[in-house]
Amino acid sequence: MSKQISRRSFLKGAAAGAAGLAAAGMMGMGVAESTDAIAWDEEYDVVVLGYGGAGANAAVAAAEQGVKTLLCEKAPEGNEGGNTAVSGQFVMATDDPDGLYDYLTTLMGKFHNWDPEAVKAFCEGCAENFAWMTGPMGGDPNVIAPVDHPTGVYEENNVSWKKADGTDGALVDPYKVGRSDYWYYNWDEFPEIPSSAHCLCLTASGTRFDRSYYNLCQNAVKAHDIDVWFSAPGKKLITDAEGTVIGVIVNKDGTDVKIKVNGGVVLTCGGFEHNQEMICSYLQMPYVHQQGGLYNDGDGIKMALSAGADLWHMSNSAGFTWTHKRPFLDTVSLFSGPNANTGIYVGLGGDRFMNEAGTTRHGRIYIGGRWISTPMPLPAYLVQDADQLAAGNKLVSAFSDGYADELASGEVLMGNTLEELAEAIRNSEGGTDAPDFDTDKFVATVAAYNKRYDAGEDADYGRPYSTMVPVKNGPFYATKIGPTYFNTQGGPRKNKFGQVINTEGMAIEGLFEAGEMGSIFCDMYNGSGNLGETMVYGRISGTNAAKRAKGEFQSEDTPVTTFTGDIYVAGTTRPASEVNAESVDLTSATLKDGVYQGEGNGINGKIVVEVTITDGKIADVQIVSESESEGLGHIALPDYAKQTVEKQSLDIDVMTGVTVTLDGYKEAVNAALAQAAQ
Ligand SMILES: Cc1cc2nc3c(=O)[nH]c(=O)nc-3n(C[C@H](O)[C@H](O)[C@H](O)COP(=O)(O)OP(=O)(O)OC[C@H]3O[C@@H](n4cnc5c(N)ncnc54)[C@H](O)[C@@H]3O)c2cc1C
Repeated sequence: MSKQISRRSFLKGAAAGAAGLAAAGMMGMGVAESTDAIAWDEEYDVVVLGYGGAGANAAVAAAEQGVKTLLCEKAPEGNEGGNTAVSGQFVMATDDPDGLYDYLTTLMGKFHNWDPEAVKAFCEGCAENFAWMTGPMGGDPNVIAPVDHPTGVYEENNVSWKKADGTDGALVDPYKVGRSDYWYYNWDEFPEIPSSAHCLCLTASGTRFDRSYYNLCQNAVKAHDIDVWFSAPGKKLITDAEGTVIGVIVNKDGTDVKIKVNGGVVLTCGGFEHNQEMICSYLQMPYVHQQGGLYNDGDGIKMALSAGADLWHMSNSAGFTWTHKRPFLDTVSLFSGPNANTGIYVGLGGDRFMNEAGTTRHGRIYIGGRWISTPMPLPAYLVQDADQLAAGNKLVSAFSDGYADELASGEVLMGNTLEELAEAIRNSEGGTDAPDFDTDKFVATVAAYNKRYDAGEDADYGRPYSTMVPVKNGPFYATKIGPTYFNTQGGPRKNKFGQVINTEGMAIEGLFEAGEMGSIFCDMYNGSGNLGETMVYGRISGTNAAKRAKGEFQSEDTPVTTFTGDIYVAGTTRPASEVNAESVDLTSATLKDGVYQGEGNGINGKIVVEVTITDGKIADVQIVSESESEGLGHIALPDYAKQTVEKQSLDIDVMTGVTVTLDGYKEAVNAALAQAAQ
C-alpha cells in the first residue's frame, strides 16, 4: 500500500508545516501562501547534513542515482568525520540476515521499542555491505577479504579472524566474495547467543583505529559528483503546508542559505555526545566526556523535532566506562582511562560500588543477570597507596613520576592518612564538588577492602583476586574519575526506507536520516553496529531521497510498528491482553436466574460483588464491600458495575489509573458468574 500523502499525514502535516515555517523564521510568508514565494538561494535534489560515515554513504548513494547532491558539514575542513573518523573502523556485515536479525533482536531484550521492518532492512543491508564497500565505496576486496591472516591486528575476547573455508566451524564464504580462501572477522560480543555467529564485521584495512573506513568514505565522496560545504551547519528545515520537507537553511560562511530540496534532506548529524543539556535530559547523567564527534550537538535531532518527528532510544548509549579527564584538555582520549587495577573506586559516600576490574561490553557490565550500563555515582575517585606509586603503577600512564606535576596542579589529591585524603577530597574544587564525602565510611571501606585482599577474595563485588592490590600504606592518592562513552543512540524514529517518522507513526515526506542519530539499537549493543548503520542506512536513505527527486519513491500510507511487545496496563504487572482475557464469554454462557456473590483482589484488599441474574441477563451488580483507594478505585467501582449491566459484558472501559481495581472487580464478577453458569 502506498501513495504520496495520506489524509492523516496531510492533516498532521498542516500543523507541522506551520511549525516548520515558523521554525524557519518564515511565518511572515504565511503557511497558505505558495512556497514559490520563498526566495531560494540554491536548489539541490538531495542535501545531506553531516559528513561522517553516514553522510558520506548517503551522499555517494544519492550521487550514484545521478542526482544533484550537496553534503554540508558543520566542522571546518580538516575537522570533519565526527565519531566515524576516530572510531575503531569496524563495520557490521553478515552472511545471514535472518541469523543477524535473531541475534540483534535478542540483544534488544525487554526493550520493545523497535521496528521489526527497520531492523530487518538493516540486517539485509549488512549482507550487502561487502559488495557496497568494494563497489561504489571503492574498497580493495583483497584487503577487505584478505587471503593471508592480517598482521598487526588483535585477537581478543569475542573478536576473532576466521578462515572462510569452513575449517574449525567457520562460515564458508560469508561475504559472498565468490571464493573461500579469505579471512573474515566475527565480532560477537555476546557469544552465548548462538546466532551471534552471523555477526561479522568488515574493516577497510585489516586493522583498527587507523581511520581507514573514514578515509574510504572521503575518497568515495571525492570520486563522485558531490558538492561539499565545510563550516556549513544545517540550521532549520523548511516544510510546506502539508508538512513535507521542501528545503533547508544552511549557514555557510556566516550567511544563511535557503536551499530548495527536491528529493529529500538526509540528516546524518550524529548524536548528542557533546550537548551536556541533552545528556542531562536524556541519559540521566550530569555530564559525560567523549572523544569523538566534537560537533555532535544533537542539531539533527532538534531539526527533526521541529518537523514533527517522534523520538526513540534517547536513553540508550554505547557506554558508559570510566575515564579521567585531564583538566587542560577539552575532552578525553578513549585510552586515557584510569588503570583500575592500581587501586579502588569510591563514590561520594566513601564506599566502593563495583568490581573495578569488571569486563564491560561497550560499557555494559554484568549485574543481576543482565548486561546493564556501568553504575556511575558521581563524583567518584580512584584511590591508591604509596606502594603503587613506588612500583610505578600509575593511575594514568601519562602522569609524571611521583605525580609531582599532578599534585601541584590539584589533578591528584593526596593525604598522609585516609582521613587526610578524605579532607582533601572534601576541599577539592573549592569545596563545591564533594563537600559531603564521608570520612568514616571511606576509612571503613578501605579497611574492609584490605581484609578482602588479605583473605584472597573480593566477596563484595567479585573482583578477580589477580587484579586486586592492597591500599594500606600512606600517603594515599585520589584521582577524580568520570564517565565516557562511545556514542549516543537516540534520535528520530525511522522506518525501513530511512524516512523520519512523526508522532503518528507516519513518514515525514522529504526527510530521511542515517547513522547513529536515531539508531536501531535500543538496549544492548554489539560493536560494529553503528558503523554498519552508517553504511546500510546511509545507502538506503541516500538512494530513496534521490529516487524521490526522480519521482521513483513512494511512502507507505500505513503507520510503522513502533512497539513489538505486550503493552502493560498501567499499575499492573500483566499485559492488557491477559487482563482482557479474564472476561467471561457472556455471549455463549447460559446464566441461571438468581443472586450470586463473588470476590476478587483489589489494590487494598478484597472486592466483594453481588450479581443478580434475571431472565438469563445481568440485571444488577452491587458492590458489597471493598477498600479501594478513595478518589480512585472507590469512585470507579460503581461505574464498572453500571457498565457491566449496560454492556452485558466485562469488556468495559477502564478509568485511568484504576486498572488494578478493574482486575479485582472482574475477578469478583467472574466468580459470581461462574456460579450462575453452572
Ligand atoms: C572511540 C570510538 C570508537 C568507535 N568504534 C566503533 C567501531 O569500531 N565500530 C562501530 O560500529 N562504531 C564505533 N563507534 C561508534 C561510531 O563511530 C559512530 O556511532 C558512528 O561513526 C556514527 O556515524 P555518523 O555518521 O552517524 O556520525 P558522525 O561520524 O559522528 O558524523 C556526524 C557529522 O555530522 C556533523 N554535524 C553535526 N551537526 C551538524 C549540522 N548541524 N550540520 C552539518 N553537520 C553537522 C559532525 O560535525 C560530524 O562530522 C566508535 C565511537 C567512538 C567514539
